[in-house]
Amino acid sequence: MYDIIIIGGGPAGLNAALYAGRGGMKTLLIERMFCGGQAATTYEIENYIGFSESLSGPDLMMRMETHAKRFGAEIINGDVTALELDGAVKKIHCDGKTYESKTVILCMGAQRRTLGLAREDALRGSGVSYCATCDGAFFRGRDVAVVGGGNAAVEEAIFLSHLCAKVYLIHRRDKLRAVKSLSDKLFEEQKVQLVWDTVVTAINGDGTVEGITVKNVKTGQTGTIPVNALFICIGTDANTDLIKDVLPLDGYGHVITNEEMATKIPGVFAAGDIRQKPLRQVITAVADGAVAADSAINYILES
Ligand SMILES: Cc1cc2nc3c(=O)[nH]c(=O)nc-3n(C[C@H](O)[C@H](O)[C@H](O)COP(=O)(O)OP(=O)(O)OC[C@H]3O[C@@H](n4cnc5c(N)ncnc54)[C@H](O)[C@@H]3O)c2cc1C
Repeated sequence: MYDIIIIGGGPAGLNAALYAGRGGMKTLLIERMFCGGQAATTYEIENYIGFSESLSGPDLMMRMETHAKRFGAEIINGDVTALELDGAVKKIHCDGKTYESKTVILCMGAQRRTLGLAREDALRGSGVSYCATCDGAFFRGRDVAVVGGGNAAVEEAIFLSHLCAKVYLIHRRDKLRAVKSLSDKLFEEQKVQLVWDTVVTAINGDGTVEGITVKNVKTGQTGTIPVNALFICIGTDANTDLIKDVLPLDGYGHVITNEEMATKIPGVFAAGDIRQKPLRQVITAVADGAVAADSAINYILES
């Protein structure tokens, strides 16, 4: 029986593991892919305080994983597929095994939203990508497009401009949502061409991406752009499939917690991008993780 089981090894989960382990709790963290979460998929993190020389996402996340383990948290690889959260003993089903715990911290984060276009799934991995850091190198010297206008899309476009011949940034509005420092960097990149007021209506290609069809939302004019890859960065959806029937979610699918990160089920906490909050960043995810672990410890001590 564990004191605290953490599901998800992104920044929120890793910091929850650090605080739980350091608090003397028997702690298990279960991660289905690799520790680091979304933060490990970005080439540069320049806004994590304490690291004024910006560092890569994988670097920062490897440091977090090492730090989390230092205080005794056990970290295993596994895909949690079902949860039984009612009652004093929580059951976590993972890869054919059942783990028991007094408390659970949900840190499953979020994943990239899809465009929902006809050939998007078929061409995923053959030119359709949701992560430039992971797949950009396959398109060195080629022409690519990024769709989106927020921080992630702009970061991806800047990253790709250092590898690719040309990068089209396609945005449905006439100004970016990204912060000024990132937008300014982007505007300096000679290889990036901004395509404003435009949406992607089709991904073309047989076996691999050969181009995209776009539509100007103001004029209605359509056209095609020949590219070898399309990087989709239009936001994220919270990973709430496991709990959507047992915990209340907000209108955007995020778990609702109080300031102690407690959900409405006693002994169940949520931290990071999975929960309803105004800012989804590494710094807020780790802060949530610390609060959630502290609350779980208090819950155990008071039960
Ligand atoms: C391209 C990109 C660039 C970014 N750049 C920055 C930046 O520069 N600065 C910044 O502060 N933030 C940045 N962010 C945002 C930041 O990465 C997130 O806010 C942060 O990673 C959220 O952490 P989290 O732990 O809540 O969730 P996540 O990072 O999403 O981690 C959740 C983890 O849970 C795991 N998981 C999910 N379901 C299960 C399951 N059923 N079983 C087991 N494991 C599961 C996932 O595999 C994942 O590893 C960026 C995000 C992206 C996508």
